[in-house]
Amino acid sequence: EAKERGKNGYMFFNAELSRRLSRKLDIETSLRRAAEAGELSLFYQPQIRLSDGCCIGMEALMRWSHPVLGQVPPSEFIAVAEETGLILPIGRWALEEACRQMGEWRSSGLAPRRIAVNLSLRQLHDPHLTEWISNLLERYGIDPGALELEVTESTAMSDGDLVVLRMRELKRLGVSLSIDDFGTGYASLSHLSQFPLDRLKIDRSFVRELAVGLNREPIVAAIVAMAGHLQLETIAEGVESDAQADFLRMIGCKEAQGHKYSQPLPAEAATEWLTARIAAEQAAAGADPMDA
Ligand code: C2E
Ligand code: MG
Ligand code: MG
Ligand code: MG
Repeated sequence: EAKERGKNGYMFFNAELSRRLSRKLDIETSLRRAAEAGELSLFYQPQIRLSDGCCIGMEALMRWSHPVLGQVPPSEFIAVAEETGLILPIGRWALEEACRQMGEWRSSGLAPRRIAVNLSLRQLHDPHLTEWISNLLERYGIDPGALELEVTESTAMSDGDLVVLRMRELKRLGVSLSIDDFGTGYASLSHLSQFPLDRLKIDRSFVRELAVGLNREPIVAAIVAMAGHLQLETIAEGVESDAQADFLRMIGCKEAQGHKYSQPLPAEAATEWLTARIAAEQAAAGADPMDA
């Protein structure tokens, strides 16, 4: 009987493995034409200044709606795109679409201070990246400081020298740079200080464990303090509760992003969100401070 189970287990493994491989192949094949087919889109998630609740940025997050597979999560297709090199064309598409949207928001007076776009390792290896971004900013009339590029901690650590060089090149262009998912990798302080960074994004896995009795608060407070010593701003990702936001504000974290404020929104909904937000901010600014 044990033998039978083993055999079944083995067969199950094979079936599961082949299902996964075929899904991966499906994704790879259809990702090639996803951009041209108009299946890719960007969602935008607001970034909030904790001191006054103002929206200071939007992070662009890629979405893929596959005609048969439906919504494929970025955690799945970005990995395939990185493996196959398809991240180069779709990553450029995302950068351009984000800048185009920012230009549109700018002309309707809705633009937040910055737009953040995720960059992956392959893109940083592209020797034409900086020049291409420079042209892009010019084309859409975006101030370089209004573009923030997010590079994950593991990307930053994976290939030391080239990534440092590329980031210095990008910094000379005037764009803003942040380390995404900070705290999940093994960045050493000396390594971090080589990068011309503006901000650390504290990973959601830490934020999730705040204010729930797990005693993770000292770790996050230490990250924020360390960032301060390195002259870096901090933004917390995945903030869902008032208690998390209150704690982050108290320890000096300047900004937050998460479901507490808004989920990532499709462009049209993000535009509505910005419209409502700006009206509310203007009403608050115009109100008598004694009434507050
Ligand atoms: P990320 O850059 O760290 O983005 C944050 C992720 O956390 C997003 O997942 C967002 O939807 C999610 N999130 C934000 N707030 C909350 C919250 O309060 N609770 C929970 N549970 N989740 C929250 P998403 O959109 O699925 O993206 C996953 C990852 O895919 C991103 O992580 C990023 O690494 C990658 N990605 C997305 N778009 C792009 C892109 O255009 N280029 C590249 N290279 N990578 C991208
Ligand atoms: Mg990000
Ligand atoms: Mg992140
Ligand atoms: Mg993340």
